[in-house]
Amino acid sequence: MFPAHTYNKKRVAVFGLARSGISCATALRLGGAEIFAWDDSTPAIDKAKSNGVNITDLHNLDFTSLDALVLSPGVPLTHPQPHWTVVKAKQAGVEIIGDTEIFTREIAQSGAKLVAITGTNGKSTTTALVGHVLKSAGLDVDVGGNIGLPVFNLRQPLPGRIYVLELSSFQLDLMPNAKPDVGILTNITPDHLDRHGTLEHYAEVKGSLFSRMTHGCSALIGVDDEQSRMIASQVNPPVCVQRVSVQHTLDDGITAPDGILEMMQRGKATQSLDLRNFGSLRGKHNWQNACMAFGAAFHFGVSVNQIAKAMQSFAGLAHRMQKIAQLGAVSFVNDSKATNADAAEKALSSYENIHWIAGGIAKAGGIALLQPYFPRVRRAYLIGAAASEFAEELRGKVEFAICGSLEQAVAEATKDASSNSAPGPIVLLSPACASFDQYKNFETRGEAFVDLVGRIPKIVMQKGSLQ
Ligand code: ADP
Repeated sequence: MFPAHTYNKKRVAVFGLARSGISCATALRLGGAEIFAWDDSTPAIDKAKSNGVNITDLHNLDFTSLDALVLSPGVPLTHPQPHWTVVKAKQAGVEIIGDTEIFTREIAQSGAKLVAITGTNGKSTTTALVGHVLKSAGLDVDVGGNIGLPVFNLRQPLPGRIYVLELSSFQLDLMPNAKPDVGILTNITPDHLDRHGTLEHYAEVKGSLFSRMTHGCSALIGVDDEQSRMIASQVNPPVCVQRVSVQHTLDDGITAPDGILEMMQRGKATQSLDLRNFGSLRGKHNWQNACMAFGAAFHFGVSVNQIAKAMQSFAGLAHRMQKIAQLGAVSFVNDSKATNADAAEKALSSYENIHWIAGGIAKAGGIALLQPYFPRVRRAYLIGAAASEFAEELRGKVEFAICGSLEQAVAEATKDASSNSAPGPIVLLSPACASFDQYKNFETRGEAFVDLVGRIPKIVMQKGSLQ
């Protein structure tokens, strides 16, 4: 925790008292601001109180006396309707910002650097990978934001310290002065439109990450979707713009359509790196994340050799195509984050010879779109509420067993995979379903899988997979 001095002797309302709200209110108080904190939920207020946050009912506060409203990124700014605190702040002409905005102001003159990562998919993986590569190269790095620690729980700014922050579109919407040294946009697909109204507005918010960049800043933008391509076309020198594609080779930019990353300049590859053997970066989607991390590391002068070594040792993130264990030739992979068919597609397209554990609460469309990958599945083990629906989809195409519980599925899949003589069988939990019928969330489902796998006799668990 470090103090936020930008609002010293100023009056600041903080609405939304989850982790980042409590952290920001505390940082502002330590920096000399007068804080008026509130939440619509009583348990949240109680928790904030127990953390020493001063509570004031903002319904009764005259907002014209305030210098700023700090809004939690979870609270609607525009859609579906502005929150009542937003209406009050707008009427009073008070600026509305987020904790990450205050953070950028705090570090602006400190000599610390900022890498900011946004996009519809791949934010967390890219953030963790950038952090890992930079740390492995011996740089002084802190990782946080939408992943891990709230920004004010990071270490204090120092010259040369690099902050690697994951930023959601909600956080960016509350950051009018975002000006990262390296800005990364992985991709844009329709998402969160309930909160942003239209795809165009959602893209505008994402694009704002680059609008204040100047000389010496690098913009890394995935150009495999139309919205991101448009954003890339609006960022110009002196900003160093690197377009990234895993679909096509580009004349200028970073590309990896076949898993061989190439940094291109006027049609010539100036650097290259084979991504295909990095176990935690399988699949085109991860090659996109790897290209982003490569570009960020390159900005900070990390050599290709150092980047390669770091990517080799990257453990991946929990619950996302995470290799957790080995039993003889059989690998066990936890992809519990795949809560829909789109996400499961990434895993099914990345492996062969799969013993596939799927099911839970199915999303619209079920697993129909996964048909092209059925030939890769040796047998499916169906759990939860979707079991009979998925069985119908698989009948006549893929052998399956209705297991009901994850425990039963792990037992059967392990037995079958162990007697599978084809090379490198995989026991893959990639449910293509929400977890709520059997688990609190995808994390607890993934943890249950890790726990069950950990009990298999003679299993060798991957280092760190139990965290
Ligand atoms: P986010 O933080 O944006 O939700 P994650 O890195 O946590 O993204 O990845 C979540 C899921 O999104 C992964 O399990 C994978 O299925 C998919 N994914 C990851 N990276 C990408 C990418 N670059 N493009 C498309 N999908 C991706």
